[in-house]
Amino acid sequence: MSVPLDDLMMHYPLTLTHFFERSRRLWAKKTLATRVPGQPLHRYTYADFAARTMRLAGALAALGIRKGDRVATFAWNSHRHLELYWAAPLMGGVLHTLNIRLSPQDLTFIVNHAGDSIIFADASVWPVLAGVRDQLPTVRRIVIMRDTHEATVPAGFTEYEALLKDAAPVTGWPALDETDAAGMCYTSGTTGNPKGVVYTHRAMFLHCLAQSMADQFGISEDDTVLHIVPMFHANSWCIPFTGVMVGATQIFAGPNPQPRDICEIIQNEKVTFTGAVPTVWIAVKELCETEGWDISSLRTIAIGGSAAPKHLQMAYAKQFGVRMSHAWGMTEMTPLGTVTRLKSYMQDWSEEQQYDVRVRVGYPSVGVDARIVDDAGTELPWDGVSMGELQVRGPWVVGAYYNNPEAADRFTRDGWFRTGDVATIDAEGYVQITDRTKDLIKSGGEWISSVDVENMIMSHPKVLEAAVIAVPHPKWVERPLACVVPKPGTTLAPAEILDFLRPQLAKWALPDEVAIVEAVPKTSVGKFDKKVLRERFKDWTPKDA
Ligand code: AMP
Repeated sequence: MSVPLDDLMMHYPLTLTHFFERSRRLWAKKTLATRVPGQPLHRYTYADFAARTMRLAGALAALGIRKGDRVATFAWNSHRHLELYWAAPLMGGVLHTLNIRLSPQDLTFIVNHAGDSIIFADASVWPVLAGVRDQLPTVRRIVIMRDTHEATVPAGFTEYEALLKDAAPVTGWPALDETDAAGMCYTSGTTGNPKGVVYTHRAMFLHCLAQSMADQFGISEDDTVLHIVPMFHANSWCIPFTGVMVGATQIFAGPNPQPRDICEIIQNEKVTFTGAVPTVWIAVKELCETEGWDISSLRTIAIGGSAAPKHLQMAYAKQFGVRMSHAWGMTEMTPLGTVTRLKSYMQDWSEEQQYDVRVRVGYPSVGVDARIVDDAGTELPWDGVSMGELQVRGPWVVGAYYNNPEAADRFTRDGWFRTGDVATIDAEGYVQITDRTKDLIKSGGEWISSVDVENMIMSHPKVLEAAVIAVPHPKWVERPLACVVPKPGTTLAPAEILDFLRPQLAKWALPDEVAIVEAVPKTSVGKFDKKVLRERFKDWTPKDA
């Protein structure tokens, strides 16, 4: 008779419940804080957080929230939002973070598609949803959170603190499977209807472990983490979950944070780790230069969501002594895919060589398989030159969109997710995102990477922001047009940009023209919105046409 050999370890589910219960015991004295405009930071301890989260879970159960029910949030970053992050999934519900910057029409589609049962909304943003309240038939209850000192709660609505005060805390948590849904987020895609991504407990558990590794963001108990990335954008890159797991001091940026608020918190609270999209760091850099804020307490700034220009990374290292960690990910990947760290033997490389690595988005995280394929689906070599669609798979990569059979073409027959990003991977494994498939410019049969040209333009000392888009051209089909925002107080002539680019670019990749614009439009999560620019310049007539 054969003696059992396989599967002799416990079947312990990888759920967020483990993180919460461990955190409750280990980190009780640590601090969580939220920025409240015009007031000192609101501070309390992890012990307070745990007690309130257990009351909130009791309140949700009393309101009839059952396993699998969607608990939506419509809120800025705050400790209350964090309480919802944990109470909903731990009691068996599904946290659904709604993007407060979307239009009422998009929000109506998303809430109805997700079938949300309850919405927890900050008072300052509730008016956006109020107008469509009667078009949300699945929503049984709205709870209003007072996010500013002056906030008032409309008559007839439940107020968050009152709800908590009256609630009986839960005394334990239901047993969950690791494949149970924990959270839900809709893509902020610029084409078609938003698509729902449902995170399992297992995906988030493994993602948090990976994110805290020294070779990734290295988030640990002795960090002070500032959450700038909205908690409705890919769960603030999942960092609030990782933060609770490791017991870091965490600060939430509160309602509508401006660059000066960010500088003030970093300086006063001695923040060691934070992250945001490049547009935030461009603005913060300007302010540090003009107002002299001290951000040197930061050990790492995670930067991603769109390409982090080389000159920006260099400026932070040289002017402020702060290292940026360039990362790439997607809502569909919980969201982390790659993080840039130099390998030990690269420390001796020249500065130029090192920044050539840093400008890439890093190598695939443990847990993420990556490949690039051509149009025919053939895998391409990791040679730093071959360019193809980036495809990924792994335990925290979406396996199917929620209730969306039409999106089946985003998955390959052999089990990979098609990211829609075009990339190269070099022999060291570092990925370079060339473009979104739809942002690539094809001029006379040659591909031009808008990201490359933007990076070059943004290293010009007089440039604040730049976006390069394709405009139709009768001869070349498409040509690049550069839309450039000068730094405040400078005057910039288009010829200065073209003269600056000419020695660095192949002739066919040089933009034909430069449009000086007041601002580059941004998407709801702060990325350059090229769709709006393409629309604005669709009738642009090239000079030589
Ligand atoms: P989202 O789901 O809103 O986070 O958007 C994901 C998309 O953002 C990716 O598919 C990329 O196109 C883009 N993206 C994220 N990080 C980077 C990065 N570091 N460099 C360039 N593009 C990025």
